[in-house]
Amino acid sequence: MTYDVLNPATEKVIRTISLATQDDADAAIARAAKAFETWRDVTPADRGRLLRRFADAVDADLENLAALEVENAGHTIGNARWEAGNVRDVLTYYSAAPERLFGQQIPVAGGIDVTFQEPLGVVGVIVPWNFPMPIAGWGFAPALAAGNTVVLKPAELTPLTAIRLGELALEAGLPPGVFEVVPGKGTVVGNRFVTHSAVRKIVFTGSTTVGKQIMAGCADQVKRVTLELGGKSANIVFADADLEKAAAQAPYGVFDNAGQDCCARSRILVERSAYDRFLELLEPAVKNFKVGDPSDPATEMGPLISAGQREQVAAYVENPAFQGTAPSGPGFWFPPTVLAPASERAVREEIFGPVVAVIPFADEADALRIANDSEYGLSGSIWTRDVGRALRVSRGVEAGNLSVNSNSSVRYTTPFGGYKQSGLGRELGPDALAAFTETKNIFISTED
Ligand code: NAD
Repeated sequence: MTYDVLNPATEKVIRTISLATQDDADAAIARAAKAFETWRDVTPADRGRLLRRFADAVDADLENLAALEVENAGHTIGNARWEAGNVRDVLTYYSAAPERLFGQQIPVAGGIDVTFQEPLGVVGVIVPWNFPMPIAGWGFAPALAAGNTVVLKPAELTPLTAIRLGELALEAGLPPGVFEVVPGKGTVVGNRFVTHSAVRKIVFTGSTTVGKQIMAGCADQVKRVTLELGGKSANIVFADADLEKAAAQAPYGVFDNAGQDCCARSRILVERSAYDRFLELLEPAVKNFKVGDPSDPATEMGPLISAGQREQVAAYVENPAFQGTAPSGPGFWFPPTVLAPASERAVREEIFGPVVAVIPFADEADALRIANDSEYGLSGSIWTRDVGRALRVSRGVEAGNLSVNSNSSVRYTTPFGGYKQSGLGRELGPDALAAFTETKNIFISTED
């Protein structure tokens, strides 16, 4: 079976790829299981060195990877370069881990007690279409560093950069089977990762609906699972904030990647006394947001990923307060859109498009009540000049990644993940290795 990969900015076919069958998935898992037998014993220094070579290969190919993502996912060239660079940086960061995978020595009676962090085996990484490169890297880099081998399934819509990363891994000298990229359908290849007993852990990023199915499937074998799911994050703007800055930056917090971002601040909560002024400031920022050819470095937003996605997004938009612009003609374009007021559905559901609801609140308690009135809890922002309030509200919002006077959520050196139905477990940061290892405890008697 084959699949025509489209350019979402032109609707033209850019490549036809063959989709793996269940037998292909089984063969890839078998190769990864075989490779695990030797990869786990590669000395820590050599494993680190190989990961640095992989990072170098990604760096040397950065322009090509970025161009592939512009073509396949409609990402702006600026974003796509950042994303390829993120894969390089995450590999480099975790290349230091093999030599620092410390256990503990614990005081006990009658001997000594030590712990080891041991790899799990084959790790299955299932990736969505919205950030094909970074999300893949956040899974495979720490997994490989901890001594696991990886089978990776990209999303049907966006397989090209993952396929290229698989080639680069081999070019960099990773042994065959250590990192297998298996493009195919979720219900075939992704599901096989879940049901195959040699796959010891699933790292899934995607919709909450599919995430729940995966968690249920993993339960059958008590398979380890990390889930990064949806979001409906709140950008909370207090009247004492730098309103000009908050309004100027709000569009980037939600329209980046055309809003197809699990961290999108798709609800802007504004203190009632500043509400009208904030909307006044937001309107020109939205209208001037540059939407167009993603390969133009001046472009700030490209198209949506597919016709289906555009249809879903459009269904949330009735009587917008104001909208930006978008090209007409071929391509899955949708203009940046502000809803004020917004329907109950638009306030609750993850739209995954360039649509934001602006909602007034009365005071701090009201802001927290509205922010937390969601099944999701991935990220969020707090804009205020009051340090005490910034900390109180940050601690009060039920979400994993918060920023104060900023809308940025992701740094590879810090943990990332969701509360509530936004996910389970954390990726990135210094502790990610724990999610890819088992702790083994060994007691050694010192008695005669
Ligand atoms: P999706 O859930 O439809 O698909 C994600 C991946 O799972 C794809 O590779 C798909 O082929 C695969 N899949 C689908 N059905 C499967 C099954 N039954 N078994 C195994 N695998 C299966 O999601 P999507 O539409 O590609 O991505 C968008 C969603 O991802 C949004 O909801 C977004 O919020 C979420 N997301 C979350 C994060 C995060 O870190 N929390 C990051 C990016 C995207």
